[in-house]
Amino acid sequence: MATMEQSRSEYTYGLTEDQLAIREHVREVTRRYIEPRAAEIDERAEFPQDIRELLAEKDIFALPFREEHGGTGTGTTALLIAIEEMAKACGTSALMLAVQELGALPIKLAGTEAQQQQYLPRLASGEWLAAYGLTEPESGSDSASMRTTARLEGDEWVLNGSKRFITNGGVADVYVIFAKTDPDAGHRGISAFIVEATAPGFSVGKLEHKMGIRGSTTAELHFDDCRVPADAILGEPGSGFPLAMQVLDRSRPGIAAQALGHAQGALDYAGRYLLQREQFGKPLARQQGLQFMLADMQVKCTAGRELLYKVGWMIDTGAPREELTSYSAMAKLFCSDMAMEVTTDAVQLLGGYGYVSEYPVERLMRDTKITQIYEGTNQVQRIVISRLLLAELERSLEA
Ligand SMILES: Cc1cc2nc3c(=O)[nH]c(=O)nc-3n(C[C@H](O)[C@H](O)[C@H](O)COP(=O)(O)OP(=O)(O)OC[C@H]3O[C@@H](n4cnc5c(N)ncnc54)[C@H](O)[C@@H]3O)c2cc1C
Repeated sequence: MATMEQSRSEYTYGLTEDQLAIREHVREVTRRYIEPRAAEIDERAEFPQDIRELLAEKDIFALPFREEHGGTGTGTTALLIAIEEMAKACGTSALMLAVQELGALPIKLAGTEAQQQQYLPRLASGEWLAAYGLTEPESGSDSASMRTTARLEGDEWVLNGSKRFITNGGVADVYVIFAKTDPDAGHRGISAFIVEATAPGFSVGKLEHKMGIRGSTTAELHFDDCRVPADAILGEPGSGFPLAMQVLDRSRPGIAAQALGHAQGALDYAGRYLLQREQFGKPLARQQGLQFMLADMQVKCTAGRELLYKVGWMIDTGAPREELTSYSAMAKLFCSDMAMEVTTDAVQLLGGYGYVSEYPVERLMRDTKITQIYEGTNQVQRIVISRLLLAELERSLEA
């Protein structure tokens, strides 16, 4: 069986020295430590504590954070590159970094100085893991219809309700939880809270058995008169829904990066396989029909990367909100749909060997599927993109 070496397809133009150095660092860490563990993590479906420790030790958890909070201060593009590199070999490991960013973003965007000082350095060092709790059993795409409530009692908020499908559930040390502080006010009644795993009344329910990203925990969370201090609220009461949307604008690219990594990892593996596998007296890589498939897969990955890095650059340079919302949704939609196609084609290129777990492409295909679903399904991304497009066209008609 061929080994799953890291991609040799270099992309350097336009990247800074820092970004290139981070790519090399994460690529090397992935090659040495993550790739050899990936199949086992998938098979055992156990949260890989060793990879968590590795990402802390190698300063990879520091990538989403500013220097003043113990981070590398190297920006979003570098973070996306790191997620992409790990995802070439292992979805669970890449997601661990993406979710550290997802869970930290509400604190980075809306936290007070004290909240930021309390949590961000611990997340940057990897001492703590973060999670983001928006989804509920009865409220998925329609997140504003959530039922979890929070009421102020003296100097504490009391949370009641439950969350479903929360990544890092059970392993996270701090959760950002969205709850209704004014249940009659629709999305304007939603607020965000920092809930530590030790909060009284907080518990973790069942863990899901999944098709892919099997080492990542996906859990139910329960809040049964769960008490957190009055200053655990993020921003003003009622500001939770816009905050959740602002977070998704910045976290969806992380999912696009995961998808892109899976696609490029599967493509590179399939290409090397075709160079080595002989049928009809010559390497399969010399069959033009298969060369054309490889070419199409490479074009898709490259187009996805261009869109993704553009979004990274938009975040790093402070692009206007509406443009970012649209580009972020487009990157997530395009990269995850194209990665589903590319990883499925990679399985096809390996024939029967693509379908068995001895080879990594079927795992990458399974790990990819979730990227079309979480952080807003791809139907939801299409709603976001078309809403913004139509609003702009409407404005142009009125002008
Ligand atoms: C492994 C995993 C990890 C997750 N991690 C997290 C996490 O960390 N934090 C968190 O908060 N959530 C998380 N989620 C939840 C995830 O974001 C939701 O599953 C997702 O947003 C979809 O919600 P739903 O599953 O309730 O599907 P539904 O909303 O019930 O949708 C079902 C189908 O209907 C479609 N649909 C819904 N509304 C429309 C519409 N208006 N127009 C067209 N189509 C529509 C959807 O696209 C989908 O295909 C995770 C989910 C999984 C499976």
